[in-house]
Amino acid sequence: MAVHNAEVAELFNRLADLLEIEGANVFRVRAYRRAAQTIEDLPVSVAEMVEQGQDLSKLPGIGRDLAGKIEEIVKTGKFTALEEVTARLPSSLATLVAVPGLGPKRVQLIHDKLGVRSLEDLAAAARAHKLRSLPRFSPKLEARILEELERHRTTERRFRIATAAEFAEALRAHMQRCPGVEQVVVAGSYRRCKETVGDLDLLVTCAKSKHVIEHFVAFEEVAEITAKGSTRAAIALKAGMQADIRVVPAKSYGAALHYFTGSKDHNIHIRKLGQARGLKINEYGIFRDDKRIGGRTEEEVFAAVGLPYIEPELREDRGEIEAAQEGRLPKLVTLRDIRGDLHCHTNASDGKNALVQMVEAARARGYEYLAITDHSKHATVARGLDEKRLSKQLDEIDRLNDSLDGFRVLKSCEVDILADGTLDLPDRILKRLDFVVCAVHYKFDMDAKSQTERILRAMDNPYCKILAHPTGRLLLERPGYALEIERVLRGAKERGCFLELNSHPSRLDLDDVHCKAAKEMGILISIGTDAHSTMGLDAMRYGVGQARRGWLEPKDILNTRPWPELKRLLAR
Ligand SMILES: [Zn+2]
Ligand SMILES: [Zn+2]
Repeated sequence: MAVHNAEVAELFNRLADLLEIEGANVFRVRAYRRAAQTIEDLPVSVAEMVEQGQDLSKLPGIGRDLAGKIEEIVKTGKFTALEEVTARLPSSLATLVAVPGLGPKRVQLIHDKLGVRSLEDLAAAARAHKLRSLPRFSPKLEARILEELERHRTTERRFRIATAAEFAEALRAHMQRCPGVEQVVVAGSYRRCKETVGDLDLLVTCAKSKHVIEHFVAFEEVAEITAKGSTRAAIALKAGMQADIRVVPAKSYGAALHYFTGSKDHNIHIRKLGQARGLKINEYGIFRDDKRIGGRTEEEVFAAVGLPYIEPELREDRGEIEAAQEGRLPKLVTLRDIRGDLHCHTNASDGKNALVQMVEAARARGYEYLAITDHSKHATVARGLDEKRLSKQLDEIDRLNDSLDGFRVLKSCEVDILADGTLDLPDRILKRLDFVVCAVHYKFDMDAKSQTERILRAMDNPYCKILAHPTGRLLLERPGYALEIERVLRGAKERGCFLELNSHPSRLDLDDVHCKAAKEMGILISIGTDAHSTMGLDAMRYGVGQARRGWLEPKDILNTRPWPELKRLLAR
């Protein structure tokens, strides 16, 4: 049975959490976290690599020791290093580290002093006001922890879209191998390219449904079969995700696809339009007086209420139905419209691949240009470049460009915005760049007004052209810093700056709503992957998905343009 990358990454992260609680060496902890990240980012399965005898120690940040551990997990399903730690510490402590406000040091404390081992223990201790008396705790923190626990209970578990994609695609491939199956589609929020996905909704057409259900529940990643009927089933995957399947006849396919794609609000709106026309629209089809008049395709559903086809990413009832009625639906950007990537790192800073490898990978993806945006010196953990090292890289890019035909490496840098809003590198080096990407990487705790002014001050520098990952959020990890986003948008517009839609699946920052706001204000968006390896360039699909949710068309995006036009736009 194949182990999934997400599961290996999860084991490494859990080990890192527990080691941190024990107070282990920080470099050791960091090594496990980095390895987990590497594994999560890999587009190929580590299990397959092991099977094919490939050398895992060649992977960035892995090395001999960790490669051996991955092999152990893949081959035996066991992880001795984790077992050793859990012999000393309850592994449930790892889940406590993730509670906002806690962290490893405090978890160690509540375990030692109060015997807290689980979320339930923690809630009980907080309710009994036992936390506030401990060092490192306060009544305020105690209240906050309780609040977090309450919220946790009421929200379903969600996954980043890249994690969902891994399982969605594996399940789709699995179902396509089932004899007699015609169409297989993963509907729901996954099809709408939402940044996080709760569960997977598969829809299958097939004349005979029984063996389809049997095939579905035999998927190798199944941890538990939670429901099983003749035309539908639900499973829980080992990675914690839920997946549902429905087998529908071809005549209902379009209606079912529309229904299960959602969103709920969009569906309600469409149903109401149907009712006004004397139609009943549901997952089985389109009916007039109980007589079926359509439902084979989604186009039929929209046509029944007088609308053209609406792309899944727009279906949030955020004005798309009105736009469709008025013939002003956007012609959404596609991956094919993207001519290059405007944000990536090489091993000169914290990337894993060399400049030439990144360039080759960009060319292999059919791009015309790639901007190299290594970190500036303030980002010390990322080995950011000072003036001298950046200058050396620029010379290297110049030489490389001389040897390239039909492709251009753009000279850039992801320059830190310092706490006072000045840039981390002097103008005399910035002027050698094709354009400058600026970003906030520290001091997230400023109040909204100060943080906004810090960013506006950075944009006052005429060299600052693109604001990277504008809100700094990490999906499912931390919210963005406090920010007056409308002021940032206006400020960017006034100063001729552009905003980034960072495609990294843990960022997807700007979000869809702010992309649309930027478009309406006439601010162009740069889609960059923030790739830290050649494989990271593939995250462009998630950025494009998010851009589509933000109603963006090719004309709203910087990197749909050929270099000469882009160059004019980026000129100071
Ligand atoms: Zn960054
Ligand atoms: Zn970056």
